[in-house]
Amino acid sequence: MTGAAPLPSAGFDLAVVGAGIVGLAHALAASRLGKRIVVIDRDAQANGASIRNFGFITVTGQQAGACWRRAMRSRDIWLEVAPQARIEVVQSGLAVVARRRAAARVLEAFMATDMGRDCTFLDEAAARARFPMFAGAISGVLWSPHDRRVESRTAIPALAAWLADARDVTFVRGVEVFDVNPPHIETSAGQIEAETAIVCPGDDFTGLFAGRIASYGLSRCKLQMLRADDGPNLNLPCAVMTDLSLCRYLGYAELPESAGLKREFASEQPAHLAHGVHLIVVQSADGSLVIGDSHHYAATPDPFGSSAVDDLILDEYVAVFGRRPRITERWTGTYASAADRLMLIDAPGADTRLVMITSGTGASTAFAIAEEVVEEFYGLRVG
Ligand SMILES: Cc1cc2nc3c(=O)[nH]c(=O)nc-3n(C[C@H](O)[C@H](O)[C@H](O)COP(=O)(O)OP(=O)(O)OC[C@H]3O[C@@H](n4cnc5c(N)ncnc54)[C@H](O)[C@@H]3O)c2cc1C
Repeated sequence: MTGAAPLPSAGFDLAVVGAGIVGLAHALAASRLGKRIVVIDRDAQANGASIRNFGFITVTGQQAGACWRRAMRSRDIWLEVAPQARIEVVQSGLAVVARRRAAARVLEAFMATDMGRDCTFLDEAAARARFPMFAGAISGVLWSPHDRRVESRTAIPALAAWLADARDVTFVRGVEVFDVNPPHIETSAGQIEAETAIVCPGDDFTGLFAGRIASYGLSRCKLQMLRADDGPNLNLPCAVMTDLSLCRYLGYAELPESAGLKREFASEQPAHLAHGVHLIVVQSADGSLVIGDSHHYAATPDPFGSSAVDDLILDEYVAVFGRRPRITERWTGTYASAADRLMLIDAPGADTRLVMITSGTGASTAFAIAEEVVEEFYGLRVG
C-alpha cells in the first residue's frame, strides 16, 4: 500500500516505525514468526541513510566479537533474501590496499586474528598480479571473501516490495507516527491498532521517545559521497578500501599495531584525518563507481557538500588508481552516532522496542540485530 490514506482498518500484531534497512529487517524477522505486520514511514519512498550508503555489506573490518558475528549473519541473510527479492549482489569480497608499510603491518596482525582465518594477505607482487588496476604504491593487499555489495537505492525498495508481496507486510507511507502506545499507534493519518511496536527511527532523535534517546548522548554523522565514471576498462571484482580505513574500522583500529599507522597519518595526511576521510570504492552493474567518504559530527550537520572534502576523497582514489575519475553525482547522508556503542536496543515498555544503529554499519548488521530483537521480544526462535 502506498500513499497516506486510507489507513488499514485491520489490527496488527506488530507496527514497525521506519522503513529503512533496520525497520525492514525487523519486519522480515517478525514475518518469519508469522506475525501480521504494518510498517509505517513518513516518507513517500525510501530517502534516508539506507539508500544513501554504499550498499557495502562489510564483514572484514567490523569490530571483533558481536559486531563481526552480526555482520556474518546479516551477510548470510542478504544472500538468502536477495534472489527471492530480485536484488542483485553486484560485488563479492573486499581488497584492502596497504599503501604504507605500517598499514601492511596492521593487515598482517589482522591475519593472525580469528577474523583473518579465511582472508589472504598478498604481498606486492601477488597483489599487482591479481589487481592490475592498482597503479600506486602498494605494501600489500588483504583479500577478504566475506563481504558483499548491493545497490542500495534499488535494493531497499525491492526488499520492501518483496516483504509486501511475498510476506504480506502492509506498508503505510507518507504518514508520521506521533505516539506509540500499543495497541494504539497515533499517526498523522489517524490511529493504527497493533499489539506491539518496534521503532526504528534512523537518526530522528526528537520525535518518538525523544527523552529516552537524549539519555544516550547521540550525535549525527554527515558523510559526502560521489558517483563517478572511470572509463570502460575499469572492472573492479570487489570493494576496495585503503590504509586510511584501518584507523576507522574497529576490527583493525583496535589492534595495537594500528598505533604506528595513526601517527603516520597525523603527520602525512592531517587533512584526511581532520575530515574523517577514508576511501571506499565499489562498482555498480552499469560500471559506475560509488566513492566515499568523509565523517563530520554535529547535532544538526549542515547539508552542504564541500568540494575540498571531495578532493581529499579523490586524492586517495588517485593514489590507488593513478587517475582522477569523472564525477557524475554527489550527495550527503547522515546516520546516528554514539561514542560508546555501535547500536542500541531500548525497551520503553513491555510491548515496545526502540532500535537504532549508532555507527555506519546498518547495511552490514541490521538483519542479525533484528533477529536478536524479535527473538527476545516474542520469546521465540526465528526459523
Ligand atoms: C553515506 C552513508 C554511507 C554508508 N555506508 C554504509 C555501508 O556501506 N555499509 C553499512 O553497513 N552501513 C553504511 N551506512 C550506515 C547505514 O546506511 C545506516 O546504519 C542504516 O541505513 C540505518 O538504517 P535505519 O533504518 O536506522 O535508518 P534510515 O534509513 O534513515 O531509516 C529510518 C526511517 O525512519 C523513518 N522515521 C523516523 N521517525 C519516524 C516517525 N516518527 N514516523 C514515521 N517514520 C519515521 C524515516 O522517514 C526513515 O525512512 C552508511 C550511511 C551513510 C549515510
